[in-house]
Order: sequence, then structure tokens, then C-alpha cells
Amino acid sequence: MPSRILIVEDNPINLELMEFMIKAAGHDPLLAPDGATGLDMARRERPDLILLDILMPGMDGYEVARQLKSDASLAAIPLVAVTALARAGDYEKTLAAGFDGHISKPINIKLFMQQVENFLAGAGEARRE
Ligand code: MN
Repeated sequence: MPSRILIVEDNPINLELMEFMIKAAGHDPLLAPDGATGLDMARRERPDLILLDILMPGMDGYEVARQLKSDASLAAIPLVAVTALARAGDYEKTLAAGFDGHISKPINIKLFMQQVENFLAGAGEARRE
């Protein structure tokens, strides 16, 4: 069953790569090039999953995550950081900001859709409970 997946990413090459893979897997990508647009689209579209870059000009991914998770109508949407931040403490910082998990950059083309499907499946289980 196709899922609607919002991708918030300021790098157009990464955005296009994720869009391509998500479409090829039969899902519907929604694209936002910055945090403010992503937040608007999340409120309007209520996607099944949100993939969110951390380092973006303007509103960064941490701030977008805080706003999504403080909105009761959006907090249940699984939120995944897609980030190159890999220093000690970065993962804990994403969890503290409200992210439900993360996918490391550079994006691994062989693993990416499996990672996305795992987060979608987890969301399905959470909804059934
Ligand atoms: Mn970025």
C-alpha cells in the first residue's frame, strides 16, 4: 500500500535521490526544500512518515522536530532524521529533540528503502496498539 512520505531537505541532490527511490518503491513523496515549508506541508498533508534533514539554513531540523512533536495532531507521525551528524552525542541529541530514529548520510542506496519501510512498519504497529 502506498504511503505518503514528506522529505524535508535543503540539498537538491539528496532531495531528488530520496524522491526517486521513494517513487520507485511505489510510495508518494512530498518535497520541502526548507524547514518552514516542511512544517507547513506536515500540517496540511498529514504524511505517514517524515524524513527530516538536520542542517538547513533558516529553521534547522531540531527546531522543526520540536514544533512537530509539540503539536498533538502531528506528534504521532514517525519522524526520522536523515543526517551526516555522527559525532558522539548527536544521536542522543536527535532523540531529545523528538526524533523517532535516524538514517545516516551519505544515503546508502542499497539500504535506504529498507530503512524507510522499517519505519513505516513500526508506525503501522504503533497505530494498531
Ligand atoms: Mn542540509
